[in-house]
Amino acid sequence: MKPPRFEYVRPESVEEALAVLAEHGDDAKVLAGGQSLVPMLNMRLASPGVVVDVNRIPDLDGIAEVDGAVRAGALVRQAAFERSDVVRRRLPLVAECLPHVGHFVTRNRGTVGGSIAHGDAKAELPLTFLAHGGTAVVRSARGERTIPAEELFVTHYTTSLEPDELLVATLWPDRGAAVAFEEFALRAGDYALAMAACVLGAQDRRVTHAIVTVGGPHDRPSVMKAGDHLIGQEVSPSLAREIGQAARAEVDPADSLHASAAYQRHLVGLLVERAVLRAWRSAPA
Ligand code: FAD
Repeated sequence: MKPPRFEYVRPESVEEALAVLAEHGDDAKVLAGGQSLVPMLNMRLASPGVVVDVNRIPDLDGIAEVDGAVRAGALVRQAAFERSDVVRRRLPLVAECLPHVGHFVTRNRGTVGGSIAHGDAKAELPLTFLAHGGTAVVRSARGERTIPAEELFVTHYTTSLEPDELLVATLWPDRGAAVAFEEFALRAGDYALAMAACVLGAQDRRVTHAIVTVGGPHDRPSVMKAGDHLIGQEVSPSLAREIGQAARAEVDPADSLHASAAYQRHLVGLLVERAVLRAWRSAPA
C-alpha cells in the first residue's frame, strides 16, 4: 500500500510547528520516529492532509534530571532512553521495559514522545509512564499545559491531547528502585498480549506505597485497585498470588485474534503476581 497524498512540512522550531498545527488542526499529523505513523499512512489508517515532520527541531531532544524527575524531550529516541545512565539509575522500570519495545532497529528511530502520544494500549512506555505517575508537557499556539498520565490515555490510540497540541516532553518522577516489569508476547518484539508493572516502596519490611499497572486487555493502560492491598503488608508469595487474582478479577478483556478473554485474564493474574513478588524482593531490606 502507499500513503494518500499529503502536504509535507518540516518546521525548524516549535513555534513554526505550532503555527502549522493551529492552522490545520486535526487535518495535520505530527511525524516523529514514524514507526507507527508511516505504517498507518501506508495502510490508509490515517490520511492527514498535512504531515508535520518535527525531527529537525532541536529543542525537542535531551534527557535531564529536573526536581526529582527525569525529563525526556519528545524526540528522545527509545534507544537513547534505553542506553541513558540517568534512566538506568532513576527509572529502572523503564530500563527494564524498553528492550520489549519492538526491535532495536525500531527503537533507533521510534521516540519516547511518539510512543506516549500514540497511546497504544499494548505499548510498554505508556504503561510504565502511568506506573511512574508521569506528566506530559504539551504546547499549542494557545500556550503550554501539563497532563498527568492518568488523564492522558483515553482509549485505543486516543489521548487527551488537542489536535493542535504538540507533546514537547514527558516528566518521569523517580519512584524508588523496587520495581518490576513483566510481559507476555507471542514473539520477542511483538506487542504484548498482557503486561504488568509494579513500583513499590518499603520500610521496616512493610510496603509504604505501591502502584500496579496492567496493559493489554483493556483499551488503555490501567492502574489496578488491587495494588492498594499491598500497603502496610509484608509481601509473601501467597499475598502476591492474592494480588494477582484480585487484578485478574478487575480486567474485562474481549476475545482477540491472538488470545481468548479467559487466557488474557489468566496472564494478568500471573504477570501481576510475578511483578509484585519481584518488586518486593528488590526492595531494600
Ligand atoms: P510516530 O510513528 O512518528 O507517531 C506516532 C503517533 O504519535 C502519530 O499519531 C503522531 O502524530 C503522534 N506523535 C508523535 N510524536 C508526537 C508529538 N511530539 N506530539 C504530538 N503527537 C505526536 N511499540 C511498542 O510500544 N511495543 C512494541 O512491541 C512495538 N513493536 C513494534 C514493531 C514494529 C515492527 C514497529 C515498526 C513498531 C513497533 N512499535 C512498538 C511502535 C514503535 O515503538 C513506535 O516508535 C511508537 O509507537 C511511536 O513512536 P514514533 O516516534 O515512531 O512516532
